[in-house]
Amino acid sequence: SVNKPNNTFASTCCYCGVGCGVVVTKEKNGAVTVEGDKDYPVNKGMLCSKGINLQYTVNDKSDRLFYPQMRYNKNMPMQRVGWDEALQRTAAVFKTFIEKYGPESVAFYASGQCLTEEYYVINKLIKGFIGSNNIDTNSRLCMSSAVAGYKMALGEDSVPICYDDIELADCFFVTGANPAWCHPILWRRVEAHKAAHPEVKIVVVDPRATDSCASADLHLQIKPGTDVVLNHAIGRLLIENGDIDLDFIQNHSEGFEKYKEAVLERALSEAAQICGLREEDIQLAAQYIGNAKGFISMWTMGLNQSAVGVDKNLSLINLSLITGHIGKPGSGPFSLTGQPNAMGGREVGGLSNLLAAHRNLNNPVHRQEVQQFWGGTTISEKPGLTATEMFEALADGRLKAIWILCSNPLTSLPNARLAEEGLKKAKFVVVQEISSKPETLKYADVILPAAAWTEKEGTMTNSERRISYLSKVSEPPGEALPDAEIICRFAQKMGYQGFDYTRSADIYLEHARLTAGTNIDISGLSYEVLKEKRSVQWPYKANKNVEGPSRLFEDKVFYTPSTKAVIHPVPVAFRSERTDEDFPLILTTGRIRDQWHTMSKTGKVNKLKKHISQAFLEINPADAEHLQIAEDDLVVVNSRRGEVRVKAKLSASIKQGVVFLPMHWGKILGSDLNRANNVTSHVLDPTSKEPDFKYCAVNVQKY
Ligand code: SF4
Repeated sequence: SVNKPNNTFASTCCYCGVGCGVVVTKEKNGAVTVEGDKDYPVNKGMLCSKGINLQYTVNDKSDRLFYPQMRYNKNMPMQRVGWDEALQRTAAVFKTFIEKYGPESVAFYASGQCLTEEYYVINKLIKGFIGSNNIDTNSRLCMSSAVAGYKMALGEDSVPICYDDIELADCFFVTGANPAWCHPILWRRVEAHKAAHPEVKIVVVDPRATDSCASADLHLQIKPGTDVVLNHAIGRLLIENGDIDLDFIQNHSEGFEKYKEAVLERALSEAAQICGLREEDIQLAAQYIGNAKGFISMWTMGLNQSAVGVDKNLSLINLSLITGHIGKPGSGPFSLTGQPNAMGGREVGGLSNLLAAHRNLNNPVHRQEVQQFWGGTTISEKPGLTATEMFEALADGRLKAIWILCSNPLTSLPNARLAEEGLKKAKFVVVQEISSKPETLKYADVILPAAAWTEKEGTMTNSERRISYLSKVSEPPGEALPDAEIICRFAQKMGYQGFDYTRSADIYLEHARLTAGTNIDISGLSYEVLKEKRSVQWPYKANKNVEGPSRLFEDKVFYTPSTKAVIHPVPVAFRSERTDEDFPLILTTGRIRDQWHTMSKTGKVNKLKKHISQAFLEINPADAEHLQIAEDDLVVVNSRRGEVRVKAKLSASIKQGVVFLPMHWGKILGSDLNRANNVTSHVLDPTSKEPDFKYCAVNVQKY
């Protein structure tokens, strides 16, 4: 229960998708302290370095935005205005564009860090009332390949396992992820399980030997972009070794024969050569999986952020399906969610190709149901613009206005200069933010100050479908308002009915009602239930008032039309940018341990800078020697799109031919030379439209 002494409040960490429970204590002077919640099932009191330092980001208000600002043309300075004036003008401009150019001339770009209620009202506003699907979020850059993979294989965007499966598994296949740094508390559970049961096997697949390899039995240092070949090779070995579950394949899945043909096409020797791995290592990985009683695959951005991200996801999920390792204890595919509420966002349809409550945008019956429920305009069947497409559409004039909230796209989008071009050309930009630092503010016509974590209440859903309630601890500073309230006030200025909520609890009840009868039915949930239980794994049906099941598909009934899981014969395709003589190295990007995304929060904490204080290029010593680069030399990383200048860090832990840049740094003191996304590629996966952050062609020279 959240019933604590009256100066302490239950909440959930606002960083990664692990979703650790915290207790926030409000001191007499208004400052807060944050501790891990010992009673919370996810973390049992533990927090990682980022979570432990949350209080500093909350207490430091030095960069906060305190009041709305506006300018009537781009050459004027920003001026302080009242909320009414700012929203009245924004509504007038939006109405003008919608009347003149249609509802697709405006867009919202939000975040996997928004609360579920915020996501819900933005989606309701644009899909249900403005009449376009131009709402996308930075979850597009993060989990959209996993969403598509789950839907294609299991019939629904549903993570099959729960965290308690970790202690029941005896084989972990961790691919395209560094959970030791990026999902630390979850990884501590894997490490503790391995320490108590040394027979548990851990395989890590990564072009870099990361900290996650420290407890691995096998590290497959794969060549970037070749995951489908590896997964197929393992699939082939499992079939040849007889380590497949024929009962599951025959009775609960479809597509096996075509899959078998596809994986038998390539000999192990050829696969090993393509992936840059030894045959015996692939055999060992297949043996570990084949011998497992409980097999969990874990993945995140290394698979998702790819031009073949959906193929990578499907080829991995196939390994769980052919071995029947799904819907049973200690088994299943498990995508590690990057952001704290990417999952909650997906539940309310928070991407441009989704609809509320996991309904399908391309299904006319589903669109009709949602339209009737909201009582607004006809919901368009046409998927809206995705994250990168929005900024391209701003640049070429198709999109006139964009409203950016809770995200920092000029640091986080690939090929960031293209995004800058978009904002420069945009006719009207609204930025809803907590901080005065993001570069987007420079392009804003209207700036709306938002309440931060602990200054508003709401809910989030973590990687294991666990919904938690986040308490409001303090009032927001100045005139800042909760994001949901800002959106609702704007919707009312637009003249739309159905946004006059007096409490965010009512938004939640409406969302919960809309899920009734779906596979994510939470119609029994309310703030009261969540406050009492502290957190609940969906589903939670109204007539049952019981949680779960916490592990899905135990009945082997999937959400596909045939109720069978689909094994896809994934083709081996290469869609990334090619390396050549001019750009011979493969660049991959990622997180470092103590920073979060674009550092607008963690960058304020001195303690967190101690781990790694500057952007750097990780390069293999053999490549460095060839390029006559020494440790700490300033180097220029060039791609066909731009350049980055950082210091070189020589490391034998990165595969030869591959270099790595951290993704966190943007523009500092007017210089954007540390920004990894100057060089990254905006090639997209054709299905998920997720960008290829993990593969672009670069050259490196000493500066
Ligand atoms: Fe927060 Fe994730 Fe760290 Fe837990 S593991 S404290 S959710 S950043």
